[in-house]
Amino acid sequence: MDLGIRGKRALVCASSKGLGRGCAEALAGAGVDLVMNARTAGPLEQAAEAIRAAHGVAVTTVAADITSDDGRAEVLAAADSPDILVTNAGGPPPGLWSDWDRDDFIAALDANMLTPITLMKACLPKMMDRGWGRIVNITSVSVKSPIAVLGLSNSARAGLTGYVGGTARQVAGTGVTINNLLPGIHATDRAVSLDGGAAKAQGISLAEAKAKRAATIPVGRYGTPEEFGATCAFMCSTHAGFMVGQNILLDGGAVNTTF
Ligand code: NAP
Repeated sequence: MDLGIRGKRALVCASSKGLGRGCAEALAGAGVDLVMNARTAGPLEQAAEAIRAAHGVAVTTVAADITSDDGRAEVLAAADSPDILVTNAGGPPPGLWSDWDRDDFIAALDANMLTPITLMKACLPKMMDRGWGRIVNITSVSVKSPIAVLGLSNSARAGLTGYVGGTARQVAGTGVTINNLLPGIHATDRAVSLDGGAAKAQGISLAEAKAKRAATIPVGRYGTPEEFGATCAFMCSTHAGFMVGQNILLDGGAVNTTF
């Protein structure tokens, strides 16, 4: 399917690896020029070079922490009013409900709620002026079904979801859509790190921890960054102009609800 976005420009945050990389790849496959971001320059440059070689699109890289004011300013300057914005950042650390103090919550809110909100506020005005724009926020299954050890994620991402629900409907009349893409368990470094924590806590091997988690997914396996990226690219396409303020869950059927 032609996604109708060839020649558009996208900012994909936190995209040297994992789900962000999957989104960058899929958008590049649709002919979109990219600004890619991550904190570590080496893997970011490697990812950008691989995408340039595979898809022939222009890719600019900005090695910066997207959760910091300076990092965001640098990234936004390079992106120069993109047509498409994909927000993403690392997830908060796991723990117990009783572990976290105010500073932990502020850090999680900064990274996973206020950073995407600030990026949206920066990019929306020009998208609205141009009469076209697409914003996809990478959030989490934790918004629909809380993950006990990820209370910081449950909290911060719920706040972002509320903001998007209201804002998406205020800007929809200008041709700009905002939606959230909710990953369930996907095969990325983040999943390996969470599996490692579970293995340690339960006194089992990493492979056993992974097999146990895969068994909780009706599809019987983890999702892939490619599947995730393809869905993101569709949400950024010309075909998705009637999708507004939605929370699209990609979890292999893991959340057991009818709706
Ligand atoms: P990942 O494989 O660990 O990749 C994270 C990417 O983000 C890397 O490119 C990393 O590069 C970059 N990054 C992290 N923090 C950053 C920051 N502050 N500023 C700029 N770039 C940053 O993680 P993932 O699995 O793709 O997860 C992406 C998001 O989805 C996370 O918020 C995660 O919590 C959420 N999520 C993931 C899953 C899953 O199963 N994978 C499920 C639910 C939710 P650098 O380290 O070099 O910065």
